[in-house]
Order: sequence, then C-alpha cells, then structure tokens
Amino acid sequence: MKEKPEAKQRSINGNTLECPVCKNDTFWMRKTLMNTKGMTFFKLDWANKEAQNYVCDSCGYVHWFIQP
Ligand SMILES: [Zn+2]
Repeated sequence: MKEKPEAKQRSINGNTLECPVCKNDTFWMRKTLMNTKGMTFFKLDWANKEAQNYVCDSCGYVHWFIQP
C-alpha cells in the first residue's frame, strides 16, 4: 500500500497532532519536495527543502512541516 500509507497518531515535538478541522488524531504521511514552480512565488530560502505532509485520515486536511 505505497499509494496511501497507514494512518496513525503523530506527535510533533512531543505534542500529539490533532486535526483543527475535524478533531481527528490519525494521519498518514507523505514527503514533498518544496522546489515546485509554484513555490518560487514565495522566494523563500527553504524553497528546496523537503517538507513532511501529515494528511488527516478523516477530512483530508494537510498539515505541512518543514524540518529546520
Ligand atoms: Zn480532519
């Protein structure tokens, strides 16, 4: 099942991640490289970094995290 990884609880710096939209607490993760043409619009230094997306398994809300 590489198309959609297993959804499970996630924690960010020790804090359990909870969806602000539907209050669900299980998410599946994918990684996205931040160097798409759309991102150059922002002209930011982290434009080429890899971001982690935690996608709510209930409503699909995408949480973005960029490693420092
Ligand atoms: Zn949700």
